[in-house]
Amino acid sequence: MSAGVALFLGPLILIPVFLFAIAALAVDQLVLREDALKDAEIVVEGTHGPVTYWGTVMHVIGSCPTQRTLRPGATFTVAEEHVWPPLCEHADRAILATVARMRSDRNFTEAPVHFEDEAHAFDIDLYETKGELRSERAA
Ligand SMILES: [Zn+2]
Repeated sequence: MSAGVALFLGPLILIPVFLFAIAALAVDQLVLREDALKDAEIVVEGTHGPVTYWGTVMHVIGSCPTQRTLRPGATFTVAEEHVWPPLCEHADRAILATVARMRSDRNFTEAPVHFEDEAHAFDIDLYETKGELRSERAA
């Protein structure tokens, strides 16, 4: 095989590899979401009112000056404008602000929440519930 053909075929061979990697990543994301949803089902027990949104803490850098620890992987729900279990006040506020933005657009069913200040920074994935989560105490 000449160098020219190899140069031409090289990228072609990579295409299925890329497609496979993308598919694997998508499945991975789906599994992550399913796992997080199971956690959210446990969390929902302490929630008051219908759960409208839920989410997971993805990344945390630094620590909150209010001494409330934000733990990566922590799952929470949003019901009646309250985050349960409460994260740090910065996270709660950032989540509720994003919820308000998501409410204004029905196509907006998931959104990233990002916050950073001098003390800490975090990323949270926020999802609208699609009737997946129900609080026992929902009115
Ligand atoms: Zn904080």
